[in-house]
Amino acid sequence: MEKVIVIGSGCAGWTAALYTARANLQPLVLAGQQPGGLLTTTSIVENYPGFPEGVDGYELMTRMQKQAERFGARASFGSVEAVDFSKRPFALTVDGEKVEAQTVIIATGASHRHLGVPGEDLLETKGVTYCATCDGALPVFRNQPLVVVGGGDSACEEALYLTRFGSEIHLVHRRDKLRASKIMAERALSSPKIKPIWDSAVTEVLDVKQDKVTGVKLKNLKTGAESALNCAGVFIAIGHTPNTEIFKGQIELDTNGFVIPKKGTMTNVPGVFVAGDCADHIYRQAVTAAGAGCAAAIDAERFLAAQNQ
Ligand code: NAP
Repeated sequence: MEKVIVIGSGCAGWTAALYTARANLQPLVLAGQQPGGLLTTTSIVENYPGFPEGVDGYELMTRMQKQAERFGARASFGSVEAVDFSKRPFALTVDGEKVEAQTVIIATGASHRHLGVPGEDLLETKGVTYCATCDGALPVFRNQPLVVVGGGDSACEEALYLTRFGSEIHLVHRRDKLRASKIMAERALSSPKIKPIWDSAVTEVLDVKQDKVTGVKLKNLKTGAESALNCAGVFIAIGHTPNTEIFKGQIELDTNGFVIPKKGTMTNVPGVFVAGDCADHIYRQAVTAAGAGCAAAIDAERFLAAQNQ
């Protein structure tokens, strides 16, 4: 039986692993379907303290993993299919196998939100993508007009990254003001290649018949006017939904699926803790996720100590 299982291997997960490992609890980290978490899909991370020149997202996560492993954390690349938190020890089904744990730290993060418009799903990987860093350099996007959807930091970051490859980047946002931080918004709007399309929504991705992206249909949300725009790629950056499906009915979630911490990082189930984007719809930063991972580890350690385990 494990003393601590950490579900998820992003900033929150690896920091929780680091702290529980240093407390001699030999945590098992279930890395899940996206080892390293969302940060591995980012290029340069400029706001993680301690890296004045910025650090590659993938490299930061690899370093976090190595640091935790140095103190005895173990990674397993299984995916958790089901959990039973009704009694302790808790039971987890990981790739068909049962694993038991005295405490669980949930750090499952969040996934890219989808627009839900016709063409989006059918053309995914055929021009529709949720990660400019992963796909932006593909030949199909080179010197072509591209569309980025969203108005947050992610959309600005994606648009700026794509200026290296696309001929022009249309930033389609549903309002007339970006949600992004000032510095990112200014950078995006001052780029000669980035052309904002305000108050507009993508209503369809074209063209399923050709089995590739050739453009989008747009609707101006103020005037109702509809138009079409040619492009070779649609990069969707409209936020994230928490990866908490497997916890439904086991712990308290809010209406959007975020885990609700009750006392510090402890959920409504004593012994189950939470950290990072799956419980945070406000800050959602690498550093706040890491901080929450640390807090969850300390809470788990104290919980076990209080039960002499
Ligand atoms: P976000 O801040 O939640 O922004 C999502 C954007 O998508 C918003 O502009 C929102 O519009 C729009 N949107 C949401 N649902 C939509 C829909 N169905 N159709 C069309 N547009 C939709 O998400 P994010 O940009 O991914 O950022 C998440 C967090 O990570 C933030 O805290 C951000 O600061 C952080 N982050 C930081 C950096 C950085 O500092 N370099 C980079 C990336 C992310 P409205 O504005 O109208 O709501």
